[in-house]
Amino acid sequence: MAGMVAALHAEKVGAEMDNTLNLRYDHSLYDELELFVNICNDMATGGSRLYIYGTAKRQQMIRKFLGVCGLPFGGFVTSATMNDDVLNSESAVILGLTDRYYNEVYPLLLRKGVKNVIFLTEYAKNEIFYKLRPRERENLDIEVNITDHCNLNCQMCDHYSQLAEPEFLSLEEFERDIKRIADLTDKKLHSLALLGGEPLLHPQASEFPRLAREYLPHTRIVFHTNGLLLMRPNRSEIWSTCRDYNIVLRITEYPIKFDVDTIADMADKYNVSLSVFNSVDNKIHSDNKTSYRYPFDIEKSQPNWSAIACHQFNLCTVLRHGNLYPCPTSAYIGIFNRRFGCSLEHSADDSIDIYEARSFADIKDFLSVPKPFCQYCAVRKRSLLPWARSKKTIDEYVD
Ligand code: SF4
Ligand code: SF4
Repeated sequence: MAGMVAALHAEKVGAEMDNTLNLRYDHSLYDELELFVNICNDMATGGSRLYIYGTAKRQQMIRKFLGVCGLPFGGFVTSATMNDDVLNSESAVILGLTDRYYNEVYPLLLRKGVKNVIFLTEYAKNEIFYKLRPRERENLDIEVNITDHCNLNCQMCDHYSQLAEPEFLSLEEFERDIKRIADLTDKKLHSLALLGGEPLLHPQASEFPRLAREYLPHTRIVFHTNGLLLMRPNRSEIWSTCRDYNIVLRITEYPIKFDVDTIADMADKYNVSLSVFNSVDNKIHSDNKTSYRYPFDIEKSQPNWSAIACHQFNLCTVLRHGNLYPCPTSAYIGIFNRRFGCSLEHSADDSIDIYEARSFADIKDFLSVPKPFCQYCAVRKRSLLPWARSKKTIDEYVD
């Protein structure tokens, strides 16, 4: 490996949106991380000590990434500490600085006799930092299922709602858990999403945003719905609740018969902040709705680090029955298991009990480390497909 310089390039997916359905799933981060891990592994196996150039927060997150991968870490180096006692021709140095310093640091390393310099693209360094940094309460978003089941039947739903039996969250449990979250976050939680399934199927749907606002006065609270029940005559309460408690109403639009203009008129009438979304590009493209396919590796053999290439990791925190999970895929797996007779299991490290957490520090540390359950997720096999109704068969989730 001596003398090898790894130059890694990430390809960003082009934005060919408008009315064209873009079905490219961006795997460039996964591919770059895989190459990086393989190179570091080869270096370490060949006897090289792995150093990271720089000591700031970004470089500390690269060190954390090495730890996630089980790679040995020799230490941080800078121009001041880079002496012969530390580095030699067998050392490998990961450039953890932003790209603009490369021209300065790379010749310096060569002059010191370092032959193995490992580069990461700015994109990968940013993602490693963004995913592995403990998230402050002001940046934390939490979602809660009010109902598990749904009145739509989307393929590959990542909440498994098309497979779920009717299940309603009780107001008592919700109030207890939200009060605890408010205490742990000092009422500084960034956002709370109330969703499902279809939350408007809950007979007390309007009570949840009201309670949430009571305990989280400054948090952005968003009520997610597919909108099918919004126009029913007995549904005026959700509109007035959203208005009175400053709740954003967010509709994901599907390629089904649906009058989004009338909904927009209702939002105007009630003075409610309305957000219309489908997963193409945040614009109304109901004919172009896509579905993400997140296949499982039932053997649980995926590398632990692959969670860093997962767009849910440390971003889509789920509160469920007094526990926080890193994502819906993990939180709702019981629905999938029951439906298909599978046993994708949680370990004690896959969730954190909000009543056992001593402080918010426990929560942010928990959320910023990949979980054992992540090894079920075949992140490199993820894809985008045109939206379709679910056949409720296991092949929507397993190859
Ligand atoms: S509308 Fe949403 S929750 Fe319901 S099945 Fe479709 S993706 Fe799942
Ligand atoms: S279990 Fe891990 S890898 Fe899978 S979706 Fe959740 S965060 Fe991502």
